[in-house]
Amino acid sequence: MKTATIVGAGLVGSLWAVYLSKAGYKVKLFEARPDIRKADISAGKSINLALSDRGWKALDAVNVGDEIRKIAIPMSGRIMHDMEGKLSYQPYGKDGQAIYSVSRGGVNAKMMDIAEENGNAEIFYNQRCTGANLEEGIVYLENTKTGEKSEVQADLVFGTDGAFSSIRYNAMQKLDRFDYSQKYIDDGYREILLPANEDGSYKLDKNALHIWPRGRFMLIALANEDGSFTCTLFMPFDGENSFETLKTKKAVDHFFQSTFPDFYELMPNIADAWEDHPLSALAIVRCYPWTHGKTALMGDAAHATVPFYGQGMNCGFEDCTVMWDIMQKYGDDIDKVFDEYQKSRKPDGDGVQDLSLHNYHVMRDFVGDPQFLLQKKIEAHFSEKHPDKWIPLYSQVTFSHIRYSDALKVGDKQDAIIKNVMAQFDNIENIWDSEEVEQAILSEI
Ligand SMILES: Cc1cc2nc3c(=O)[nH]c(=O)nc-3n(C[C@H](O)[C@H](O)[C@H](O)COP(=O)(O)OP(=O)(O)OC[C@H]3O[C@@H](n4cnc5c(N)ncnc54)[C@H](O)[C@@H]3O)c2cc1C
Repeated sequence: MKTATIVGAGLVGSLWAVYLSKAGYKVKLFEARPDIRKADISAGKSINLALSDRGWKALDAVNVGDEIRKIAIPMSGRIMHDMEGKLSYQPYGKDGQAIYSVSRGGVNAKMMDIAEENGNAEIFYNQRCTGANLEEGIVYLENTKTGEKSEVQADLVFGTDGAFSSIRYNAMQKLDRFDYSQKYIDDGYREILLPANEDGSYKLDKNALHIWPRGRFMLIALANEDGSFTCTLFMPFDGENSFETLKTKKAVDHFFQSTFPDFYELMPNIADAWEDHPLSALAIVRCYPWTHGKTALMGDAAHATVPFYGQGMNCGFEDCTVMWDIMQKYGDDIDKVFDEYQKSRKPDGDGVQDLSLHNYHVMRDFVGDPQFLLQKKIEAHFSEKHPDKWIPLYSQVTFSHIRYSDALKVGDKQDAIIKNVMAQFDNIENIWDSEEVEQAILSEI
């Protein structure tokens, strides 16, 4: 029986274990943390993510999708909250299209169950990878409780140990000509749990992603299954309106009351909950090659990105689809598999990172900007009339399987076209859905 070692039983590692074990590999997963299924995920610790089409495709390919659907909350659009608490709604796609709020721990736990149920995957906890021999497929481990050291050898090794991957840091980065860069953005984030009403009902519409855009910073909220919302405040670490200025309860209280008044009404005790979650940093990690010898990086270990397109996990799940398709093509010829995987997938790893950075600016600076909203309205209208000619960038990324690198190129072109057309008409606000504007766009495609 062929053997595989997976380092990191997070979202991508646990899904990849399902793929490999269903294909008959004997899989061993090594995870630095304790078993999350036994940990007490109490109120305040619920963290959620947006799952979209690429993720669903990867889950459905190994029949895991329906289990995850049971714990997924559809969000069909964004609801923007302005300073006066006035709401505006922007659908994400066409009718019936939605992204889904899922619990990180919930998805991870379900996939661990499924991988183990299959009988071919075993998960070992409190086992921290400290290095690897990439050519021989050997992984070096240390038990985080006892300090005991061990090593394990397999036919294949997959590093799915996240943005700060040990396989990458302790082994790949020692290779000659290994490219590596790590870039922290100016912003960090802090999560806040908005609890359910006393009767368990939601305080906001659960079927939308809520955004409080405030120029240089923003608050977002995604629903959890128990009636609560996990909210995330993204803002710079320092400067005016930064985390640095929110060091006391009084400052936090005043900031929320004056900046997010409708949110404050729902959570007047925000200052007491401020320290429940740590302030965390956000980085983009780029590297290459992604494979060496018997070893490959997947997920954040290969292409960690900032979370502003809600695609990090989706992209990591798509790595599984891509790797799997290539394995079907070349069978046991792992040199060919890994070569094609990294060559074909790297542009999309870069693509998702560039798209995420782009959306960082869109969400931060533009979602509340009338010109931007008009541009989106024109695009949506045109795309509805000419779906064969125009898929909006957001839909390409979120509701299609078009390569990230291609979506990025098409998106840039579309942006230039609409901006150009908008500049041609002084009264574009009034005629945005006219035949004239439609013809102007058609002439530029
Ligand atoms: C604030 C925030 C919001 C996000 N929102 C979204 C979203 O809405 N949609 C989306 O698609 N993506 C989102 N992401 C991105 C998403 O979280 C990641 O892309 C995803 O978790 C990557 O999965 P992974 O399995 O590659 O890495 P991880 O989920 O980080 O898992 C890595 C695993 O490896 C383990 N590990 C680490 N080091 C070692 C070691 N030395 N030995 C053994 N085990 C080790 C870790 O304990 C962990 O279990 C978000 C990210 C952030 C920070």
